Amino acid sequence: MAHIDAGKTTTTERILFYTGKKHKIGQVDDGTTDMDWMVQERERGVTITAAATTCHWQDHTIHLIDTPGHVDFTVEVERSLRILDSGIMLFCAVGGVEPQSETVWRQAEKYGLPRIAFVNKMDRMGANFERAVEMMKTQLKANPLVIQWPIGAEKEFAGVIDLIQMSALYWDSTDGQTVTQTEIPADLQDLAESKREALIEEIATHDEILMEKYLEGDSFSQAEIEAGIRSAVMKNLLFPVMCGASLRNIGIQPVLDAVVHYLPSPIDVPPIIGVNPTTEQIEPRQPEMTEPLSALAFKVSSDPNVDKIVYARIYSGILNRGDVVLNVAKNQPQKVTRILQIHANKRQVCDIAYPGDIVALIGLKETTTGDTLTGQESPILLESIDFPAPVISVSIEPRSESDKDKLEETLQILMDEDPTFTMKLDRETGQRVISGMGELHLDILTDRMVREFGVKARVGKLQVAYRETIQSSAEASGKYVHQTEDTETADLYGHVILQVEPLERDAGIHFENQSSELQIPIQYLPAIERGVQDATVNGVLTGYPMQDVKVCLIGGSFHESSTSRSGDEIAFEAAATIAFKKAVQQAQPILLEPIMKIQVITTAEHLGRIIGDLNTRRAQVLNTEPGEEHEIINAYVPLSETFRYTTDLRSISQGRSTFSMEFDHYAPVPAGKNI
Ligand code: GDP
Repeated sequence: MAHIDAGKTTTTERILFYTGKKHKIGQVDDGTTDMDWMVQERERGVTITAAATTCHWQDHTIHLIDTPGHVDFTVEVERSLRILDSGIMLFCAVGGVEPQSETVWRQAEKYGLPRIAFVNKMDRMGANFERAVEMMKTQLKANPLVIQWPIGAEKEFAGVIDLIQMSALYWDSTDGQTVTQTEIPADLQDLAESKREALIEEIATHDEILMEKYLEGDSFSQAEIEAGIRSAVMKNLLFPVMCGASLRNIGIQPVLDAVVHYLPSPIDVPPIIGVNPTTEQIEPRQPEMTEPLSALAFKVSSDPNVDKIVYARIYSGILNRGDVVLNVAKNQPQKVTRILQIHANKRQVCDIAYPGDIVALIGLKETTTGDTLTGQESPILLESIDFPAPVISVSIEPRSESDKDKLEETLQILMDEDPTFTMKLDRETGQRVISGMGELHLDILTDRMVREFGVKARVGKLQVAYRETIQSSAEASGKYVHQTEDTETADLYGHVILQVEPLERDAGIHFENQSSELQIPIQYLPAIERGVQDATVNGVLTGYPMQDVKVCLIGGSFHESSTSRSGDEIAFEAAATIAFKKAVQQAQPILLEPIMKIQVITTAEHLGRIIGDLNTRRAQVLNTEPGEEHEIINAYVPLSETFRYTTDLRSISQGRSTFSMEFDHYAPVPAGKNI
């Protein structure tokens, strides 16, 4: 995991090569990598889908997922981190801790993943290992443990010093397959001694027995050092830092050694817990073959030519080909017709999967991302994966009536794959509106529809996914009465009084019943709640969804007849919708817009113009951080003002600036601003 361009794909390609999965190293720059296998990925040189792969090193099986760094694909990072046990965090030796490094680091922290840091690109001009380590402390507030030191930097970068074994490592210049271990160069000997001393002291700080030894001046064996590191890494107390240059094939094998030595195996992490749907009690599942099966589907992928593929992490028990598993959330038994082990876009059939395995399953037609799969007799529901709501939309229309079905079908497939991609019909225009996480996200999705699925569609202009909310409390009554001439059918009657009040931002919609049964019999409550939920989908101002409203049912009346009046449910649903809309009209409704957090990295000469331009975009500049070579601007800016910022920024600063942006919060659209 890393900021975009830090070298994840380049590094992963080397890992595949050295672990014997590939016979030739793929190059990102020629579009020949294995991990970036979608056409769009090869063209744009970015990792979009987190491809999963399995490889072997020193009698260990390693499951590896190369995650994308661009925030628009945050869903891929989130779901990968949710099911992995640890991570390798890559930093660029020039940029150090970049904005997205920080974002993914925090995501990994949320899941408590032990991590190794790899400072890549030591061969680049401006590479500075020490600065990257310092930035880990200041920016990430992490505790880096330097276990290697670079031999030279930039063009002079030649190899690394292993501070544990106290030796120098060099790589052959062909493909880096041969690693030579020799003595540390004389001019670096003193430096290496002092760095090793610091390393030993740091490890001892986290281990009582080692501390005693340290204080008595005893030396540590390699095994003791490694055990000390392993134990501190597992507790997230220390993050070993290594370095290299993947493109030059320098430094990869020691990273694989470190994965095996320091990162947890599935049996080192706490057992997974889930909720038993029958008893509603929390139950643990040990990572043992003898336990009942539990697995989490973390990704669904569809290829126009093959069946739907569900990627799953097995937590406990074993899964055999042909087993019927239970999709717990959907309460559906489903048959696993095939189990595949994945190597980027190539797949190998296998008969059985064990705890800790990450496999692709075929046959699970109804399974979507975040679903739990278990044995039929022993269901538990694992915590699903959180995904942010999409903030940007475009309309999409079939080019002709005959393309309509194909478009519908493709949209459904893509929505199944990607939980941050949604589609809805605009009630007024009847158009299909698709929404996603950013410009690039939607761009890639529409491109895939055309090229991969052969859909002929017209794509509209980018639109912001606005929301609506209220600013004050209000109450209103809604009544739905339908009298019929027909004596056979009963009249319909429903009457409710609702009160609405604003909630804090991102609280969602809350419904509460405060009426008495004398006013509203409980059998009508579900219909009333449904009526309210329906009404929140299209707000009263411009039809955008509503959020952050508390809705209380405070009264109403019903038709007091002795006969059963099931038809009145429809009337109550309609009455609730009427009452809600009326109440919201009186509660000072306002429009909310997504506000993005943006970070622009530029040089001092362009700083003024970029800030000036940001101000014309209604941005709120939070601060500027002067760096050694560049200036960093942090700001909030409304999403609607950022369209085509990539092009604009390029022309303002002659291509000398970069930026990254992610959704931060919703805020009211200023009065008088047209949307
Ligand atoms: P990702 O976005 O993190 O997957 O990064 P990539 O692996 O696609 O690499 C981004 C760019 O950096 C490509 O042009 C690589 O050739 C280049 N790159 C990767 N590793 C190194 C390195 O060690 N040294 C140098 N100089 N360039 C590198």
